[in-house]
Amino acid sequence: DVHEILIDLDKKHFIHPTSSLKQQNESGATFIFTSGEGVYLTDTSGKRVLEGMASLWNVNVGYGRKELAEAAYDQMTKLAFTNSFSSMSNEPAIRLASKLAELAPGNLNAVFFTSGGSESNDTAYKLARYYWKLKGHAEKKKIISQKKGYHGVNIGATSATGISPFHSLTNSHAPDFVHVDTFSLDSLRECIKREGANHIAAFITEPVQGAGGVNIAPEGYLQEVRKICDENNILLIVDEVITGFGRTGKMFACEHYGVTPDLMLFAKGVTSGYIPLGGVMVTDTIHQELIDLSEGVLLHGYTYSGHATACAVGLKNIEIIENENLVENSRIMGEELLNGFKSLQMEFDFIGEVRTLGLIGAIEMVNPETNERFDTLIAPRVSAEAAKRGLIVRTVGFEGMDTVVFSPPLIINKQEIHELISILREALIAVQKSLQE
Ligand code: PLP
Repeated sequence: DVHEILIDLDKKHFIHPTSSLKQQNESGATFIFTSGEGVYLTDTSGKRVLEGMASLWNVNVGYGRKELAEAAYDQMTKLAFTNSFSSMSNEPAIRLASKLAELAPGNLNAVFFTSGGSESNDTAYKLARYYWKLKGHAEKKKIISQKKGYHGVNIGATSATGISPFHSLTNSHAPDFVHVDTFSLDSLRECIKREGANHIAAFITEPVQGAGGVNIAPEGYLQEVRKICDENNILLIVDEVITGFGRTGKMFACEHYGVTPDLMLFAKGVTSGYIPLGGVMVTDTIHQELIDLSEGVLLHGYTYSGHATACAVGLKNIEIIENENLVENSRIMGEELLNGFKSLQMEFDFIGEVRTLGLIGAIEMVNPETNERFDTLIAPRVSAEAAKRGLIVRTVGFEGMDTVVFSPPLIINKQEIHELISILREALIAVQKSLQE
């Protein structure tokens, strides 16, 4: 049958990203998806599952949106692609750039387009260093990032990432990357003192760490970071690759803190994953310095920077987010999700902290007898039991975490949140039984 044939070909030819290749090769893919509608996906066997992760925190407007397919079709039949190097441009890229300038906080008014989050990160590090070089401070080149931060897999982004298993592919990292403790102002101040502000180009943070286990920056943190960066002539980069476009109940998460970074990174939600796109937004100040001081050329550009079809899909996607009030829905449904987590926390003694900000959330697994993590990870068992019952969630099991994380599409409604919680509850009951055995 087709399913078996696909499983076999998948094992033979498809090297899955960020996966246990051995497990994939032995057991084959759990799901081969064939279609999606709203918050649900259907696989080759006809099984329907609720997507509690919006795939990789990105399918914000949900599956099966014909408007996005039409936007891509219209643009592709007119002009699928043309490069944006030098004096070339195209209308969707121009219109999306100006739309983003309208949406982004403060004076973040100019955009450098990429095709994803990793490219946005490496671009930002180069732009930050270039900025200081242009201003006569070529020695300001260190990039400070945080433990448990995730910034992608290109060599710069891997080096900035503060989750050690992601360093396992290479023992040769990019130089001039330094990690500080998660959301610790003291650790940042100490690092600046040790490394010297005159050697630091930028500090990068996610407002909510995603892959690191959905850790939300405490109130006041980002405001203090902004001050510290200003006092020390350090650029502030905020990675909104997950948090952008409504995920946290605001269009961009820095709005929760009233902070405008010098560079803001986006990807994922800008197209809801319908086509690859990302970018780096910079303030008017940085943009003007680049114009005034660059000796002629900015020698950094991807073939697909400002891809016409990707930008057309981005524009349509943002139109959907605005017309359907998905940012507000994220805030309201986020509260519903939190209420669900709290009721589960009352029922199951092995649930520790629960947290959400809009529609990104986490529940921690804790041994009630010790108040510490269990000796073996529990979260993957919860996720496996949930998958059996038709709910997709992800787990974070490194750096001392034993956490189930959630990030459903922003179109999710109350009834679907209740379904998510109800399946999760069944999965937790199954895990509870196995813990008692
Ligand atoms: N930054 C953050 C905060 C992310 O969560 C991710 C991906 O999950 C990235 C960067 C890398 O993005 P991409 O996988 O599109 O390269």
